[in-house]
Amino acid sequence: MNAAANRPAARRAAVDKPRLLIVEDEPALVELLRYNLEQSGFEVDSTDNGERALTVIGETPPDLVLLDWMLPGLSGIELCRRLRRQPDTRNLPIVMLTARGEEHDRVRGLDAGADDYVAKPFSPVELIARVRAVLRRIRPALAEAVLIYGDLSMDLVAHRVTRDGQPIHLGPTEFRLLRHFLEHPGRVFSREQLLDSVWGRDVYVEARTVDVHIRRLRLALNRDGLTDIIRTVRAAGYSLDARRD
Ligand code: CA
Repeated sequence: MNAAANRPAARRAAVDKPRLLIVEDEPALVELLRYNLEQSGFEVDSTDNGERALTVIGETPPDLVLLDWMLPGLSGIELCRRLRRQPDTRNLPIVMLTARGEEHDRVRGLDAGADDYVAKPFSPVELIARVRAVLRRIRPALAEAVLIYGDLSMDLVAHRVTRDGQPIHLGPTEFRLLRHFLEHPGRVFSREQLLDSVWGRDVYVEARTVDVHIRRLRLALNRDGLTDIIRTVRAAGYSLDARRD
């Protein structure tokens, strides 16, 4: 388990803790998730079956559901479809967990209405970052003013970035670039996508400009022998990714 995952996100701006419901039938995984999510400032409830989940959600609607695909009885994907059909849960944020890493399964999960999809095995850091990103997108009121990914934190109000507790100084473009990565952790962006999102569509900048700013961002973030958390994906682009493979 990554030590950074256990660090409490103490500087959440919102007062109420977001409530999460874990629907998962593997007790060890539930405990791992519960521990890490509670340490990160979430209130956690869990159930190991789909029918019970429907009851729990009906009684005390959570802010987000972490839903395992393979469940005994009612499957995760069927539960997801049902939640999307009911008016009161149509917009409930759902992140699907699954052992299936295939692209068509990912598409099926998203087709069934999941907001995001995390393939097992995943690191708690990665999962929590994805949960935060979904909440930020769907329930901005619950979103924190501090974006956290592993040992990296960005305070959007104070415009401050730290890694492993040490301040990081970034230029305005590197700040926007890092913010974009923190809002979509683990996702790979091509240079063109980064240009559109970070520089804007109306600005003409060459694709290799992205490489220059990525290099500066890396230099700033990876001081003192810290691991490189910007991943270069050959022929595809870049992503924020703490996993080492
Ligand atoms: Ca399962």
